This record gives sequence, C-alpha cells and structure tokens, in this order.
Amino acid sequence: EEILTHGPKVTYVPPTLPEDEDSIFAHYEKGINFDKYDDILVDVSGSNPPQAIMTFEEAALCGTLRKNVNKSGYIKPTPVQKHGIPIISAGRDLMACAQTGSGKTAAFLLPILQQLMANGTAASSFSEQQEPDAIIVAPTRELINQIYLEARKFAFGTCVRPVVVYGGVSTGHQIRDLLKGCNVLCGTPGRLMDVIGKGKVGLAKLRYLVMDEADRMLDMGFEPEMRRLVGSPGMPSRENRQTLMFSATYPEDIQRLAADFLKTDYLFLAVGVVGGACSDVEQTFIQVTKFSKREQLLDLLKTTGTARTMVFVGTKRQADFIATYLCQEKVLTTSIHGDREQREREQALADFRIGKCHVLVATSVAARGLDIPDVQHVVNFDLPNNIDEYVHRIGRTGRCGNTGRAVSFYDPCADNQLARSLVTILSKAQQEVPSWLEESAFSGTGSGSFQPPRERFASTDSRKGGSFKDMAAWSQPAALGVNDEDDAWE
Ligand code: AMP
Repeated sequence: EEILTHGPKVTYVPPTLPEDEDSIFAHYEKGINFDKYDDILVDVSGSNPPQAIMTFEEAALCGTLRKNVNKSGYIKPTPVQKHGIPIISAGRDLMACAQTGSGKTAAFLLPILQQLMANGTAASSFSEQQEPDAIIVAPTRELINQIYLEARKFAFGTCVRPVVVYGGVSTGHQIRDLLKGCNVLCGTPGRLMDVIGKGKVGLAKLRYLVMDEADRMLDMGFEPEMRRLVGSPGMPSRENRQTLMFSATYPEDIQRLAADFLKTDYLFLAVGVVGGACSDVEQTFIQVTKFSKREQLLDLLKTTGTARTMVFVGTKRQADFIATYLCQEKVLTTSIHGDREQREREQALADFRIGKCHVLVATSVAARGLDIPDVQHVVNFDLPNNIDEYVHRIGRTGRCGNTGRAVSFYDPCADNQLARSLVTILSKAQQEVPSWLEESAFSGTGSGSFQPPRERFASTDSRKGGSFKDMAAWSQPAALGVNDEDDAWE
C-alpha cells in the first residue's frame, strides 16, 4: 500500500469500463453439474432461521433487479443463494460457508440491493463526504474489482451506485469517482481505511458490512484492519448494522474470532463440508523432486495444449522465474503477483481472461475468489503450506457446475506436513487418494507435530462446541515477514 511506504506516487488509472449492456452482462454458461448443487447437504444453525427459497421469484426482487438476474443468465438460485438470500432479507447476521464457485457473490448482493431499492434509497449524488449504505471488503484488488463489477451489473438501471477503491491505483482518481455518489462501497482494507481517514467516507448510514473471504479478512494479516474499521468513528455497533461473512473455508479459531463482529444470534450456514474442496474438480498428484519440477511442468503443459491454466507457485521470484521460463519455451504465459505494478496485474488478468495468454503463473494473491471463465486446469507447481489455501487455489476451476482439473506437484521433502490434510480433503470430495500419499500421511515420518483436527469436518458451527485442540496449528498463518511470499495481499 502506497500510503504506508514512501515510494513514488501511484498514478495508475484503470481503463474506463464499457457501458454497453452486452459487456456488463457478459457471462459464461453454467456447467453440467450445476443441478447437482441441489444434492449438497445444507446445515443452518442458530435460532429461528427463515425458510429457504426455491426460486428467484420467491426472493421478491423488484422488477429491475429481477430483469438483471435474468440478463445474467441465472435461472435458478444455487444453495447458498436459496438459504442466504432469505436470511439476509430477514435482517439477520450471517456467517456462510459454501464451496468455491457456487454463487456466494449474488447471495449477498441481491438481498442488499433489494433492501436498498425497497427502502427507497435516495440516488446518491455529489457530496464532499459520501455515506454508503453498504461496505464490502475483500482481500485482493482483483477480487474486489470483480465484486464491484457484479454489483454494477445487478444495480444496472437502478438508482443504486456502487464504487470501488483499492490500492495501486491513483487515489485522486478513486476519490473523484467516489464523490460522485456512493451507495455500495467495495474496497480492499488499506485503501478503504485511507478514504475513511481522509473524511471522504462517513459511516453513519452504514447498514451492511460484508466480508468476502471472511476467514482471510480475519486472520493475522487483516484482523487489525478489520478491528480498526469496526472501531472507526461513526461506525454503527454490531447491534445496529447487519454483518455478513462469506467464504469456502473457516478454520474454527477464526469462526470464534468472527463472532466478535456479529450479533449473538447470527446464523451459520454451511453448504456441504466446511472447508471442503469443490467436488467438480478432479484432483491428481504427481510425486516430484525439487529439480525435476520445471521440466515436468513443461511436459504437462504440452499435454494440455491451449487449455486455460493457472500455475501456482510459492514466491514472487519463483513466479517471475517460471513465467520467463515458459515464455522462452514458447508457451503463451503471463504472471500476477504482489510485486508487479497494478497496471501489470490488471493487464495480466485481462490477457488471461481473453485468452491472449493461456497460462497465468500466480502466487497466492490469485488464490481466492477470482471467477475467470474457462479455467480448465490448475497446477500447483509448489503446494501451499496451508490446506485452506489449497482448496481456494483449485477452486479457480470447476466453477458454476463446470468440471475442472487440478494437478499438484508433491515433493516429499517439502510437502509432507500437508499430506494428512490432503488425504482428508480428497476423501471428503470423493476423490481417489493415491496410496503413496496415504502412506506418507500416516507413516508418521516428517509430519512433525502437525495434526490436522478431523473434528473440523464433523462439527460445522464452532458454537456447537467442536474440539479446539490443535486449532492454532491448523490455521497455520503463512510465515509473516518473509518478503518473497505473497501473503501481505491487497
Ligand atoms: P461466485 O461463486 O459468486 O464467484 O459465482 C461463480 C459463478 O457462478 C459466477 O460466474 C456467477 O455469475 C455464476 N452464478 C452465480 N449464481 C448463479 C446462478 N444462480 N445461476 C447461474 N450462474 C450463477
């Protein structure tokens, strides 16, 4: 964040967004497994949950919103929408867990926009201080931008004005846009706190606070920022606002911490296994040694041709290194990581989205939330050191009922500590567990004291009193202070 460092002033202004309906409503088709979402077990805990809806008609959306849902190609709600929409419409706080790619964004945007429409939110107009009705936070710039585009799409033709603020872009540019009017403010934490601190955003009218990738927003990296946000002058207390959290993963220690931000009677919604991988992704593992990885990646990419592929690596330097290597080998490759300028990050994502480059080499900065059409293939060149991160990474494919493939390079010398949790994740997602992986998971060699708590999968809502033993070990925050790891996202 440029507000913390004294580097050169950031002057980047992103390209102007297209205004035509075809671009705004562009979407990809749901996949063959979309209807199978309906078979996933759903658990709502907490008192008096409202009844789920079965159709968008039952959501009683106003005419324009309903039309925008149709234009987006949504025919029926996904489970997290069936349950989430009525919970939010009923004014309840929510901690929602649903697998990657299953429609969490619309689950919070639609009921919020509907309430704003129903209560006759005044069209926001120019003012030196904006007072948004809703604030949405997410951990990376690209993800918050994507959420903003979804908000803009669903709010199309209404008086609700969404705005986005994030780091790496000219602050002046974003503030000018903000001051034109803002009902729904989407932001990454650093820039959001910056515009609040500058007095450009007042919190007195805030009714909704949404944390997307909530477990990430509350882990060691971002928790202080979130506490500063809810402690900011004018911020309504948790009793006087609606707080909504969404993610595919929720380590139990984070669930307990999250409760600080929610009303005591919040509802916990679990669609499927909490922290479980998307079952539409075929997961395979290849045993490698550190020195054979590069050639094996090239061999793998030769077999997949021009299938759109994300290759995850452990460090920013490694991302540059592998991207350069693939380019030299004539593979159309680009890369995204936290040391690239925002202009380059956005260009890389755009080139990947339109297929100009079919390989995107990425650090964990691209692990969560990104919804890129036709990503058929995720490669873990380096496995992450945390199982939740693995679940998010492979969730870049297999979205919206489409099928996908994830191939992970497993280096027994480096990845042994992940073996047990991988075995659990694979079996919960009805995937074949390689016998060598099972052996290394339970042979006891090299796994040290790390014992993934299996109870995590038995109990869902941490209020139900699961076992909290080993939770600190489970959440394993990525090593802080290691500059080359891309963990200080935004
Ligand atoms: P999300 O998990 O919110 O990123 O959504 C994943 C993808 O599914 C996005 O491309 C959404 O536009 C799409 N999607 C979400 N809900 C529905 C729905 N009810 N019907 C069809 N597509 C949907």
